[in-house]
Amino acid sequence: TDIPSQARIKAAVDKAYAAAKGNTAGKNADYIPALAQVPPGLFGIAVVTVQGKVYTVGDAGVEFAIESVSKPFAASWVIEKKGEQWLEDKIGVNQTGMPFNSILALEAHAQTKPAMNPLVNAGAIAIDSWIEPAEPAARWATISQLMNDYAGRTLSLNQVVYESEASSNEHNRAIARLLKGYGTLDGDPEVALDLYTRQCSINVTAKDLAVMGATLANGGSNPLTGKRIVASDTAERTLAVMSTTGLYETTGAWTWNVGLPAKSGVGGGIVAVAPGKFAIATFAPPLDEAGNSIKGQQAIESIVRELIGAGVFET
Ligand code: GLU
Repeated sequence: TDIPSQARIKAAVDKAYAAAKGNTAGKNADYIPALAQVPPGLFGIAVVTVQGKVYTVGDAGVEFAIESVSKPFAASWVIEKKGEQWLEDKIGVNQTGMPFNSILALEAHAQTKPAMNPLVNAGAIAIDSWIEPAEPAARWATISQLMNDYAGRTLSLNQVVYESEASSNEHNRAIARLLKGYGTLDGDPEVALDLYTRQCSINVTAKDLAVMGATLANGGSNPLTGKRIVASDTAERTLAVMSTTGLYETTGAWTWNVGLPAKSGVGGGIVAVAPGKFAIATFAPPLDEAGNSIKGQQAIESIVRELIGAGVFET
């Protein structure tokens, strides 16, 4: 495989960091009160290759809430256990063109697939309702073990973010109730909502996200621990869903500019995956209007252009 040399990766990461560091555009998410408190100047980048080489710069070891970056990894569990057809039929795999928590979008798809896709809140809350074993504590054990396996270490829960979101998530509660009404959510919607809120509150570093992404780049085997987490078909399907909607409603522009499957979260994390090569992850809290980290997007675009031209479409 064509994996850039150590020196090229290091130079690209350092260059991207230096170029984006001074960018003060955007602001922290504040609809989850605890996220507004995270120092906005934090900025870290990590690249992990499929051979397990790790490159970091800046605050790549600082923990933050994973938020929506957890969604593709949770989706991979249902793809693996229930099958890709189940995901396509029961949840859906299309863009909504609307914000990640849109009720309008949910209602517009009510007669077909109200959960829409696994990377919007509706789809992600629905997915957590189907994870097994069904008993809530066991379901949480499945989710947290999965994230630990992808990261190659035991991740902690950010209790402050969890409590902040749990006490302010009426909008997501409405989504969970509507999905229950439409028959897309299994069991008690409160349980699914709580699991989803916990999942979003898992602490990761940029390095962790890069390892998680590198596991997908590596066909489902964690390049640091050597452990297989999902089958290679599952890893491919997971990347496909990231390509369709990984950066919210601006995924089209992202694919146009960068060309790699990626996922962002309102905690300021982004992971982008170059299949067969490496993953790049960033942490910088200030977001654009859609909810994507501004410095993160800038840095990843710079590294991708440096290392693989215009992304996966480069021949
Ligand atoms: N937990 C957040 C929410 O439900 C995740 C949003 C995101 O990162 O896109 O609003």
